[in-house]
Amino acid sequence: PTRSDITHFGAGPAALPTDVLQTAAQALLDFNGTGLGIAEHSHRSELATNIINEAKADLASYLDFPASDYEILLMQAGGTGEFSAAVYNLVGAWVVRQHAAVLSELGSGADEAAVVAVLRERAEKGLKLDYIVTGGWSLKAYQEAVRLLGPEYVNLAADARTINDGKFGKIPDQSTWKLSKDAALVYFCDNETVDGVEFPEFPAVLAPNADGTGPIVVADMSSNILSRRVPVSNYSLLFFGAQKNLGCTGVTVAVIKKSFLPPTTTQPSPALMRKLGLPIPPIMLQYEIIAKNNSLYNTLSIFDVYIAGQVLKKLLKTYPNKVDGQQAVSEKKANIIYSALEAHPEVYRIVPDKAVRSRMNICFRVTKNGNTDDTEKAFLKEATSLGLTGLKGHRSVGGIRASNYNSIPLEGAEKLAKFIEAYAKA
Ligand code: PLP
Repeated sequence: PTRSDITHFGAGPAALPTDVLQTAAQALLDFNGTGLGIAEHSHRSELATNIINEAKADLASYLDFPASDYEILLMQAGGTGEFSAAVYNLVGAWVVRQHAAVLSELGSGADEAAVVAVLRERAEKGLKLDYIVTGGWSLKAYQEAVRLLGPEYVNLAADARTINDGKFGKIPDQSTWKLSKDAALVYFCDNETVDGVEFPEFPAVLAPNADGTGPIVVADMSSNILSRRVPVSNYSLLFFGAQKNLGCTGVTVAVIKKSFLPPTTTQPSPALMRKLGLPIPPIMLQYEIIAKNNSLYNTLSIFDVYIAGQVLKKLLKTYPNKVDGQQAVSEKKANIIYSALEAHPEVYRIVPDKAVRSRMNICFRVTKNGNTDDTEKAFLKEATSLGLTGLKGHRSVGGIRASNYNSIPLEGAEKLAKFIEAYAKA
């Protein structure tokens, strides 16, 4: 098959717009008539700096948040690396806050050992990281926090499996979340790629107070960023890998409130963290370092940033009302696919609860004559023969998953819906 024959519903890496790839292919050979390709130019060249700064500005413009309050970091850790980075950096910020409080209570002349003893006691009693687990990815983030810190510091504030026979597919009512007082962070995954569960809106229980104080909210938006409006000011940190809606694999974006960065907050010294028995981040995961160096502490893949930048420029050009325009299209495409599935309940079972089903990753099971395994195999085979590819569910849960990312055109969603209908009737 050729590229134009295929609509690729893979969960990530996702398909990219063909015109972006055509431009990028040329840029790989010769960037803007320089005779040298984009992947060959120095990451410290002026042109690389321009690519970075433009991508950052376009991201803030498209998502419509004030770049003055947030720092956009381009990193290489993947979503998985950010699970660790969130823990290291926000535990560090917690220690800095407590350290300042203890110094002011004990007076500036206090003996260092006494300060450390008080801090240690406070950490043992009061350092908590809250996790809302609603699917495979927030579970992994929670497990990473436990691995880095030890279970005593990590609070499983909600576990969606407990209300759904041990499986993901629902979001527990916010009134049941067991949130800690003054947690170092409250973490959730906005869209669970494997389980097809998406938060319908920002969880009200985590909203900031009128004076701007409130929980330190961290979210993984790897698989739904750029597809709907995000109330960025409610978050202290949000992050996403590029390989679904933003670009190709290789760059990860962290958007962090500037109040967690110098001059307001600097990370505690490694010596202090060692005395407290708390972990010290690898230098590449320390947000302060990445921010100070405009994301160029070490060699960044400018090619990947370039692709992300081209995707953002295309989105800005396509939608004069920016992310709201894409949001309307995303909802429309998801509705087309879900409606086709709902029309044939005798064959299709949508996995997550209707109230929390994802607009991005549409997860369902296919059964005919009581047989799911063979029916799904046949469904995938037939779909592939029609150019509808990448529909196999994640290996951990099986089934079918149609990833309805931004690069899927409306006609692609319609084509899939038609096939869903025809397959049910056949
Ligand atoms: N978070 C979510 C929601 C994801 O979908 C994924 C990957 O698919 C990850 C995190 C992990 O990302 P990475 O493979 O870049 O580490």
